[in-house]
Amino acid sequence: MIKNNKKLMPLPPKHILSKSTFMYGCQCPKRLWLHKYKPALRDAMDEAQQAVFQQGTDVGKLAEQLFPGGVDARPKDSFSYQQSVADTAKYIANGHEVIYEAAFQYEGMLCAVDILVKQNDQWYAYEVKSTTSVKAQHITDAAFQYYVITHAGLELADFSIIHLNNQYIRKGDLNIQELFAVSSVLENILLEQDFIHEQGESLKEMLQKKTDMPQVEVGDHCNKPYPCDFQGFCFKGIETDEPDYGEPYINQTAIQAFLAQIEYPIYHIDFESWSAAVPEYDGHWPYRQVCFQYSVHVERTPGAEPEHYVYLATGTHSSSLEFLESLLNVLGDAGTILVYNKSFEAIRLKELMHEHPQHTEAVEKVLDRLLDLMQPFRKDYRLPEMEDSYSIKYVLPALVPELSYNDLTIGNGGDASTAFYQLKNTIDPDDVERTRKALLEYCKMDTWAMVKLLGVLRGINV
Ligand code: SF4
Repeated sequence: MIKNNKKLMPLPPKHILSKSTFMYGCQCPKRLWLHKYKPALRDAMDEAQQAVFQQGTDVGKLAEQLFPGGVDARPKDSFSYQQSVADTAKYIANGHEVIYEAAFQYEGMLCAVDILVKQNDQWYAYEVKSTTSVKAQHITDAAFQYYVITHAGLELADFSIIHLNNQYIRKGDLNIQELFAVSSVLENILLEQDFIHEQGESLKEMLQKKTDMPQVEVGDHCNKPYPCDFQGFCFKGIETDEPDYGEPYINQTAIQAFLAQIEYPIYHIDFESWSAAVPEYDGHWPYRQVCFQYSVHVERTPGAEPEHYVYLATGTHSSSLEFLESLLNVLGDAGTILVYNKSFEAIRLKELMHEHPQHTEAVEKVLDRLLDLMQPFRKDYRLPEMEDSYSIKYVLPALVPELSYNDLTIGNGGDASTAFYQLKNTIDPDDVERTRKALLEYCKMDTWAMVKLLGVLRGINV
């Protein structure tokens, strides 16, 4: 029956601009042109980007449960959007009141809105975002959809962004109503309608010149609002002037004052964490940084060989109580606790304290003992080799060149987080073992680097 309908229904011609390509064009006309005519020049997507993309899709599917029982107008593949437009029209005509991925087309511009709902004879559009608030680019994106939908002939009573609610803490089954927050953006998108019209016309005209790549210099726009995926092509061969990072500067008085605060035993600590848009376990909220690993090097007395302690959760459940109690046990109750870039670990400790109030006193004592090893490298110990950065990834090679993250399988916190999170999908025990070994080596390196850097500040070779 439906098959026959599809055959009879005339499909609109293929679109010129979709919502995504319109947004590319707003960021940079050259990006849009390359996407359309030179897609092979695109940078490969790395694992972290793929995970973010998948996360967005998962959040979108979940939000559909806010309006259950709808019909799905999703295309079966990326060549079937015009069928989606026809299906949407058919669903509307047939009296369906909830349509997922409802597609519309107007003068070569196509959009698919995540959820379209009819209530009291009026239509409401909802676009789902996996962020915890409405961002400026969401308004332009929604304004494009509003323009296309209303010009295609469907009047909208309101247009809202559904985003994650960062105040929601999971307890038991996922509460979809509380997980999401809904914000109307109609007022803002009405203000952008003229811009959408003009920009749409100008981008369509630009795309008519198939052999005429727009000349756009690289700049800040290459990463705003999203990193462009043609950077490999555009940045290739661009000569950059050797920056001048100034003269070495070492303020001995300030460094001695910093060192004077340190008391034995000295604990060097570092945490690793993972996060997910949708809270997966009790006590988690959207994007909670869940600590799954720590490394601690302890210098008990001057000159003593540093001891090493480590914790690595066995599964992605990452029991926060197990992590906290193991850590408190290692940190004892006296001595300075050094951390590189204190705010991350301090915030995680406060979150763990609120979650496990029975350990409030112990965590407060730990917080009082924290000292930021990054502090002297901000302004009192500066070398040109640090390239104006005080990140440990720059400070370490400048001061301790024999230590390097480059030789490690996992070389930064983002990769550590992705590697741990993906363990739950890893079946082969050898792969699991390899990843866990790489995680242990990476985190150990972070605190060993701190031992070495403290040695540099003290003028001794550890
Ligand atoms: S890398 Fe920059 S200049 Fe090149 S297409 Fe992307 S945004 Fe435009």
